[in-house]
Amino acid sequence: MLKPFRPTRVHPTRDTRSNPERCIACGKATRFGKKHCIDHIHQTAYAVRLVEEMERREVEVRKLNMNHYLDEDAHLVAEARAILWEKRVVTAPGLTRVMDLTHKQAERLFRSLSKHGIAEIFRNRRGVTAAKAVAPQDIEL
Ligand SMILES: [Zn+2]
Repeated sequence: MLKPFRPTRVHPTRDTRSNPERCIACGKATRFGKKHCIDHIHQTAYAVRLVEEMERREVEVRKLNMNHYLDEDAHLVAEARAILWEKRVVTAPGLTRVMDLTHKQAERLFRSLSKHGIAEIFRNRRGVTAAKAVAPQDIEL
């Protein structure tokens, strides 16, 4: 005769309630071994870096709005350079779609790329401002 089926109890591999981690800011118990509670999650290294990156971008966008050139090591320059090297040619409207910039900001970013020898600015057949990647002598695109 077959034994009646009895489901086995599944125990969690780790019970976070028996060994709670504490928030390093306020001492409140946290879940899943986290070092910060929900009120202090903005103090994690990741969140701090994210805020710094957003602030840096804001400063760079402000420079574009004031019609200033960006430095060669600016993050927007690096981002646009990566896009250009992948696509080789990007129009200003095309850049606005991938980088969350206005048309004017995109054109001004092109001018920074041009100043640093990263791109050449031209107008395409439709008269739209575009940038073409300028490859360093030793790199073949
Ligand atoms: Zn906390």
